[in-house]
Amino acid sequence: MTNHADVLVVGAGVAGLAAAGEFLSAGLDVLILEARDRLGGRIYTVHDPMMAVPVELGAEFVHGMPREIFDIAAAARLGICELDGESWTYRRGRLVRSAELFESIGPVFEQMREAATYDMSFQEFLDHADLDPDTKIWATSYVEGFNAARRERISVLSLLEDEEETRRVHGDRAFRIFSGYDSLVQALLPTGRVRLHLNAVVSEVRWRPGHVEVIAHSRTGHPIGPFKAERVLVTVPLGVLQQNAIRFVPEPAEALAAALRLEMGSVIRVTLRFREAFWEDRAPRLSFLHSPGLAFPTWWTPHPAIAPVLTAWAAGPNGEALAGADEKAIVDLATSTLEKIFGMGRAHIEDLLEYWYMHDWQTDPFSRGAYSYVPVGALDARRTLAEPIEGTLAFAGEATCLEGAGGSVHGAISAGRWAARRLLEKLECGQASGSGNKA
Ligand SMILES: Cc1cc2nc3c(=O)[nH]c(=O)nc-3n(C[C@H](O)[C@H](O)[C@H](O)COP(=O)(O)OP(=O)(O)OC[C@H]3O[C@@H](n4cnc5c(N)ncnc54)[C@H](O)[C@@H]3O)c2cc1C
Repeated sequence: MTNHADVLVVGAGVAGLAAAGEFLSAGLDVLILEARDRLGGRIYTVHDPMMAVPVELGAEFVHGMPREIFDIAAAARLGICELDGESWTYRRGRLVRSAELFESIGPVFEQMREAATYDMSFQEFLDHADLDPDTKIWATSYVEGFNAARRERISVLSLLEDEEETRRVHGDRAFRIFSGYDSLVQALLPTGRVRLHLNAVVSEVRWRPGHVEVIAHSRTGHPIGPFKAERVLVTVPLGVLQQNAIRFVPEPAEALAAALRLEMGSVIRVTLRFREAFWEDRAPRLSFLHSPGLAFPTWWTPHPAIAPVLTAWAAGPNGEALAGADEKAIVDLATSTLEKIFGMGRAHIEDLLEYWYMHDWQTDPFSRGAYSYVPVGALDARRTLAEPIEGTLAFAGEATCLEGAGGSVHGAISAGRWAARRLLEKLECGQASGSGNKA
């Protein structure tokens, strides 16, 4: 494989793959450099012959009906199924059927819209909101759980922007890709036409207008490259940029300062496989289970698929508390939470537990966190980070999505395509256009 291309793309998550597709369509020669030995980045599906359903260690849901995903799925004939079933809540020692989370937080967003005359944290909004204590608990659990954010940090203006996008794509509905999220990654890969270098950890990007040199090494430290091109699109996660894992010469100071103004949220999710679905007689048709205040405040089953599997989700402060912890300790905490919720003895749950699946995205050197969110006062940071520099160097990924879909798969696809088009525009006429990054 030659080390020269028209464009280098760093990172083979969905943003990088979607961008590569755009460059290839424009007739450019593209080389993708990816640190892992697999594609998909924060989409990480396990196919275990012992499981009736694919297990997701990263992204699992399609939030709403975004064209970025539905169009790819339709072209590749991927089955998408909508979640249904019942939501249940564990509060004050009781397990009860509950409304959908989205229904419960509707009034919170109405008040937020009126209150947001300036940017403030969600906590500041809550402190002054006319909401009953239960609603505040629900809303906090939703905001921290969905955005992987701290309530005293996340920007209310960004939440309102996200909510508009959620309504646009019918984000109150959720779907899964039947064969696993990794089939979307495969469908995005421009097969046969893209040059891909796996196990290539990029450590340095040297650039000047119209010329780029990228230094990389294998995961065992063996130097590879240098790779040369006319431009480079860097799609590594925000956490990787924030921790200066890649050195840029010269430093794109404005973009890197913008990256530091955003936040990388934490998530610990663990999927537990049991011998039997012991919850079915206690919480029939269980889809989501909310247990605000407990170490794992959100749970779900694979419903409507039938499998004796529960996924535990701890995000934001709950995720931070568990980041880096020993897997067995995390599983023990999850099972002891289940003991409480379902009123079962420890020995019984342990006897039913067959296996668990998890991945710590916080300690993973190629993600360094789960996904991004916007803290108070940083509403412009995604845009600054997304802006191509001298038509030569650009950043893209879920953290540069400008339409309120940051932190999602469809947001990352949209941002990757947008960045590629911006670089192509600069190439063709040296002109910028467009305000959002909807592809
Ligand atoms: C636990 C979890 C649950 C999630 N759940 C959902 C969900 O249900 N629905 C949803 O829509 N979204 C969800 N997300 C978010 C979604 O996964 C991401 O927004 C999306 O996959 C990001 O794509 P990306 O291309 O921007 O980044 P990534 O997928 O992270 O791709 C970046 C690539 O860069 C590579 N890289 C990093 N450093 C280097 C380097 N130095 N050199 C070369 N390559 C490097 C990485 O290995 C990676 O492959 C979840 C994320 C997590 C972590």
